[in-house]
This record gives sequence, C-alpha cells and structure tokens, in this order.
Amino acid sequence: NIRKVNENYFGSYSSFGIHKEMISDKVRTEAYRDALLKNPSLLSGSVVMDVGCGTGILSLFAAQAGASRVIAVEASEKMAKVATKIAKDNKVFNDNEHKGVLEVAHSMVEELENSIKIQPQSVDVLVSEWMGYCLLYESMLTSVLYARDRWLKPGGAILPDTATMFYPFGSPPWRSQFVAGFGKGATSLPFWEDVYGFDMSSIGKEVLEDTVRIHVVDVIEARDLVTGPALLKAFDLATMKPDEVDFTATATLEPIESETEAKLCHGVVLWFDTGFTDRFCKENPTLLSTSPYTPPTHWAQTVLTFQEPISLAPDTVLAGADRSGAIGTEESPASSIHLRVSVARASEHRSIDVSLEAT
Ligand code: SAH
Repeated sequence: NIRKVNENYFGSYSSFGIHKEMISDKVRTEAYRDALLKNPSLLSGSVVMDVGCGTGILSLFAAQAGASRVIAVEASEKMAKVATKIAKDNKVFNDNEHKGVLEVAHSMVEELENSIKIQPQSVDVLVSEWMGYCLLYESMLTSVLYARDRWLKPGGAILPDTATMFYPFGSPPWRSQFVAGFGKGATSLPFWEDVYGFDMSSIGKEVLEDTVRIHVVDVIEARDLVTGPALLKAFDLATMKPDEVDFTATATLEPIESETEAKLCHGVVLWFDTGFTDRFCKENPTLLSTSPYTPPTHWAQTVLTFQEPISLAPDTVLAGADRSGAIGTEESPASSIHLRVSVARASEHRSIDVSLEAT
C-alpha cells in the first residue's frame, strides 16, 4: 500500500504549518543558508538540484548564491505551486516569460525526467533537507541517494555530505512524563501485581513491552544524561549505498566522570548531526547539530525507554565494581553498559524499527 502511504506523506507536507516550523528552526535553516551562501567557489555558476524544495527556501538561497540553474523538485502539488509563485514573486523564476535561474518541477525526484529537460549526471550541487526524527524516521534519504546516482556529476557536491547518529544514556525526568502520557499509570507494575489478591502482573509487563517500542521525541537537557555520547553510525552521503540505512552497531557506554553515585538509566537518547564539511564547503564548512549540548531544533531528541531501568555505577568506584558487564540492578550497579542497536527500515514505508539489546 505504498501509494496510499505516500499520499499521506506528501499530504502532510502540504500543510503550511510544517513548513513554518522548519523555516523557523534557525539552527536548521541557517546551517543550510551558511553552507549555500558562504561557499561562493562551490555555488557560483553551478547547476543546483534541491530535492524536496517545499517552499523553495534552499533553492532561493542557491539562486542568491549565484547558481546558474536551480532545479527545485517537489512531489507535493500544493507546495510545487506555492514554490513557483514564491520564485516569481522574488524574481528568480525561469520559464518562457521569466528569465531567472530557478525552475520548479512538480514530481517525485524518482520520476523527474518525465517533467523537465535534464541530462543524467549534469548537476554540480545536490542539496536536500531530508532528515527525519532520529535521522531516519520518515526520511527521504533513499530518494536523495537515488537523485545523487542519477543526476549528480561524478565528484559533484552533496549538501550535507555527512550524517552521524549519537546515543548516550539518560535518566529522568522524561520517563515520568512519558508514562504519564500513557494515561493513569497503566504501566505501573505494582498495581497489576496485586489485584484483589490476584497476580495480574502479566498485563503490566505487556503494557510495558508495548510502551518500550514507542519512541518519544522530546527535548533532553545535557544534565539528564548519565553517560557521554557514543557514536552509533556515521554515514558518508557522497559514497554510501542505500542499503546501509539498515545497520546494527554496538557500543560501550561509561558513566560521566563527575558522577559520584550510582545512577538509574531509563533509556537511550538518540540524535544526529549533519555536516557540510570542507570536502565540498571549502571556504566555510558548517555543522547542523541536534544534540542536547547545542540549542534545540524542531527534531528535538528521540528517547527509547528500557523496560526496566539499569543502574550504572559511578566512574570513581570503577576499580572495585563488578566488571562483568552484566546489566546493573539497584543492588549491584554495572560499571559500563554494552549495547547493540539495530536500525532497519520497517515494512511500512518510510518508518524505521530501532531495537536495543544488551550484550
Ligand atoms: N527544502 C524545504 C522542505 C524540506 S521538507 C526546506 O528546507 O524547508 C521535505 C520536502 O520534500 C517536502 O516538501 C516533501 O513533500 C518533499 N519530498 C519528499 N520526498 C520527495 C521525493 N521523493 N521527491 C520529491 N519531493 C519529495
């Protein structure tokens, strides 16, 4: 049922509210603006393709930066029309009447040759804002990689050119909000353990299992983290293959040095950075970070909650602590946590499955 899912997906992007939210996210929009406007040797005179132009904001920056041709591709009919009008209003539109540099193609980028004249591998700079929650949720990354392989010149630039996922462990308060969000403490195990003297804990466990699979998007503060970040996955967008989107990574997390007492970890916090590195942005490389250490973005962070919290021993007692690597309980905290994280495209189009496993 991919068609229907796609209709819903592009339908959701025809609401102006989403575009306002993205444009108002200054961390996001200014990273792209800096990459496009502050690297004149890359942009000036170049052919640019903007995959998923929305309002056309990135294409307008590219035109402003002196590109000789800007191809703004947008699958949502409503947004393609709006982008066309905006390009005309800003005197950069290109058609028989207008002699600007920007043209809008109402098309899935996968079907572009049906709507405009373009030679394969003729684009100098491919730009796209394709990132979803947790980087890959609802992400258009595979469409961008398709466009790269079909339309970008060999050695051409892709902006951004790196995407990196990180994950540390976190402690409350988000777990309590999270459970509260699920209404009336349905997840509370003690309630189900004794119902008029009967053991109904299986219900509590089931509810908890369901809840763990749900990813919460929330702004996490650095002070809620109990370990430093570990690298989960680094993608090189200039070279990666589409099937690299499914991956399994392992990492060991150690408590933050200053911790002096055992800390309960309630889950994993995920975020991503994308880089406009000096590979293509030679004059002014930039980084778009969605970390809890930098100003928040509309992506916030993604939280995956454990079924049971893990107790992590403070760094200072490491030498004497149980180093077995077992997942700590409140009585015997673990000195570090070993985790395997798998990310896979779910059968449902555009969503992802993230699973956690202690090793
Ligand atoms: N570039 C704009 C919008 C980003 S949102 C900005 O930075 O503000 C992503 C946009 O890509 C949405 O408008 C969505 O409709 C479009 N899109 C997603 N997949 C696409 C595809 N395969 N082909 C064309 N457009 C696509």
